[in-house]
Amino acid sequence: MPENVDANSFSRILGVKRKALDQISLLLSSGFASSKKARNDEDVLDEYRNRLASFHNGKWENGKELNPRFLCERGFRLVDAAKKTIKCDACGFYLNTSLPDITTVDMKVYNRCLRKVFEGVETCHEKTCTAKSRRPNFFPHVNGEVELMRELSIRMDKMKNAHLSKEMEVTEDCLDSAVVLRLFPDESVDIRLKRLVITGWEIEDSSNVRCPLCLRSIGLDLSFTPSSSHYSWCPSIDLNDALNIPQWRVVIDMLSKSYRDLHQCLSIARRALSASLSTSSLCDPTHIK
Ligand SMILES: [Zn+2]
Ligand SMILES: [Zn+2]
Repeated sequence: MPENVDANSFSRILGVKRKALDQISLLLSSGFASSKKARNDEDVLDEYRNRLASFHNGKWENGKELNPRFLCERGFRLVDAAKKTIKCDACGFYLNTSLPDITTVDMKVYNRCLRKVFEGVETCHEKTCTAKSRRPNFFPHVNGEVELMRELSIRMDKMKNAHLSKEMEVTEDCLDSAVVLRLFPDESVDIRLKRLVITGWEIEDSSNVRCPLCLRSIGLDLSFTPSSSHYSWCPSIDLNDALNIPQWRVVIDMLSKSYRDLHQCLSIARRALSASLSTSSLCDPTHIK
């Protein structure tokens, strides 16, 4: 025990150190707890995915402009694929979105019909409808690297069950392999699986992957470039306003810079604290009989 510290203070310091060590260990082992806001964002995103599935299952085809994302973000699900009827989940309003065949009508007529549907989608809701306040934030953890990294790690674990043939190529010219390794350092895992996770894909079953934001499904028997295989309206490939690069890339760049640093700092802090604690314990007066 240092000469200028009394026994009570020394015990208190040891107690604080042990508590800090427990907290750091808990953070490192749990992958960090999910915040209340993050959980709410996840609920809203789940509702969106559920609506998107109705369009996916109904094999929605209604013009390039009227894509499922646009309708799902505004609270709608597909209830009748043949009649192109959609319904707002929040206020229950039904809307017919059928458009004339673009090859048989005048462009002006087609555009007028399209405009009418767009207006309907935005304005048909009941006054008390909550759809507007439940718009999904597709990258809810963009300010919480740790939560996002945890999500990617879970996805990576599941992805390890995918079967890739030796010949199958998952090319990704714009993805530096150093970045891939930084995020997923386990070298025993196939780098092709890591590329799939990083570019927004998750395992659907052992032979297919699926994007959770556009629900596009791709078989693992053919070579493909994952970052350019999303539907054209997928939020993953929205260009970030400030950086002019796709959102998936923004997230990955941010994670590869900060998360590993944070994790390393915590690991170093834990080791330092642990070493200091065992040294201090040697001269802990409460242990001296
Ligand atoms: Zn509504
Ligand atoms: Zn997608």
